[in-house]
Parts: sequence; C-alpha cells; structure tokens
Amino acid sequence: MTALYIVLAASAFAIIWIVTSNQRKKRKRQQIVSQPFPKEWRQILRNNLPFFYKMPTDLQLQLKDKMQIFLAEKDFIGRKGQDITDEVKVTIAAQACMLLLNRATDFYPFLKTIVVYPAAFITRHNHYDASGIQSEEPRVLLGESWNRGQVILSWTDSANGGADFEDGHNLVIHEFAHQLDGESGVTNGAPPLSAEQDYEQWAKIMSQEFQELQRKASTGENTLLDKYGATNPAEFFAVATEIFFEKPQQLKELHSEIYQQFQQYYCINPAEW
Ligand SMILES: [Zn+2]
Repeated sequence: MTALYIVLAASAFAIIWIVTSNQRKKRKRQQIVSQPFPKEWRQILRNNLPFFYKMPTDLQLQLKDKMQIFLAEKDFIGRKGQDITDEVKVTIAAQACMLLLNRATDFYPFLKTIVVYPAAFITRHNHYDASGIQSEEPRVLLGESWNRGQVILSWTDSANGGADFEDGHNLVIHEFAHQLDGESGVTNGAPPLSAEQDYEQWAKIMSQEFQELQRKASTGENTLLDKYGATNPAEFFAVATEIFFEKPQQLKELHSEIYQQFQQYYCINPAEW
C-alpha cells in the first residue's frame, strides 16, 4: 500500500512539474515576442533573405516572432574561426523557422546548439552509405543534423541558400527537416503528423515516390527532386522539403500528392506566394 502511495505521489508530482514548466516556457515565449524585432535584424532580412518579402504579410510577422524565440533559446558555436554575428544567427534562424510557420511547435525541442563552420567541413564519425555499408572514412560535408542536440552548418552554404531561394537547394531547410523528422524518436522520413493527417496515406505516397526516385536515379533520368533523396527515406523527406519551399509550383505540378501531403504537414501553400 505504501509503495503504491509513493508511486502515485511521484506520478502526480511529475505531472505537476511538467505542466508548470510548460506554462513557464509559454509565458517566457510570450514575453520574448512582446519585445520589438530589432532594426538591425530587419536589415539582415532585407540584405540576405530576399524571399522574406515575397511571403504573405501575416507569415512575415509570424516568422519574425518565431525567429525571436528560436534565437533566444538556441546556442550558436563557431568553429574554424567562424564568428557568430547577428548576420549569421538571423540568416540561419529565418530559414530554420520557415518550417515552423502556422504549426503547433515546440521549436525543435531536441536541438540545443547550432555549430557553424566557415565553409564545408570534414567529419570522421561512423556513417552508412546508400547501400547500408558502415564506414569510418572522413567525409566532406556542408551540413549535418544529429538526433540529439546539434545541427552543423557551413556558413557559406547557409548564406547562399538564403540568397537564392528558388534553385531547389537549401542547406538549412534540409538539415532542419531532419530535426523535425527526428522528433518521432527515429529519423526515417516519417515525422510526427498532426491528428488530422493520415499516417497510412503519408507512408503510401512517400514510399511510392521514394521508389520512383530510386528507379530514376538508377537509370539516370532527369528528376525535379535531387537524386541524393534516393539514398534513404530520411534524405528523401529532407530533399522533398527543400523543393516544397524552393520550387513549390513544380512540385505541385509533377508530384501533386507529395505537395498535398506537405501542404497539410507544413500548414502553408508556398505555390501561391
Ligand atoms: Zn540529409
């Protein structure tokens, strides 16, 4: 009886602790967005992120709020001599927060730190290639997303992604799509969906399209989606997300079912911007 009482008391305490810390977080976020958006940051948006002013006005305002919270909660670390300036932080935050518009979000809850290199960097940890073979060979990367706590980015490529938002390639969007994907506990191309969205439908469409890209990659046919997406379902989701934001009309035309699923998942309709 005493043991049961202790378990119940501990569970009640845990629930109260979660509820109050969520309330605290919510209040803190409200306080952050009540602060004015700094003038210098607005200038960086104007200089580095021309797409920002093509978005509907309500989404521009929302993006600024989300950026303020993101920048207050995440740490940035520079490596290999990379300075962490407002320009670096704002340029990365604006692109990362594009994936959070209109959605109930906890702001990449597993992510603590964004590590920034001046350009491409070398990693040496174990990885699996497209055929599933594990290797410890050093690799040159532009970006990387870890399941727990870190996104690593090349500043040159993050800046280029913001400057040209129509070429179908966006490093920041790619790596942060992996973060969303990982919120389910595994990074496998199936992020947690909202209650209204159907998992079966998602899985059916994504696996059909993934197999189609794999087939075209093997025959060398032209594809809208980068063939790197044929590596595995997680890369497919990240690559398709880049196209959803950067070439929405073409995605809608050539892969209407992916577009529809993403329109529901990301709660935006960029083909109309
Ligand atoms: Zn990737």
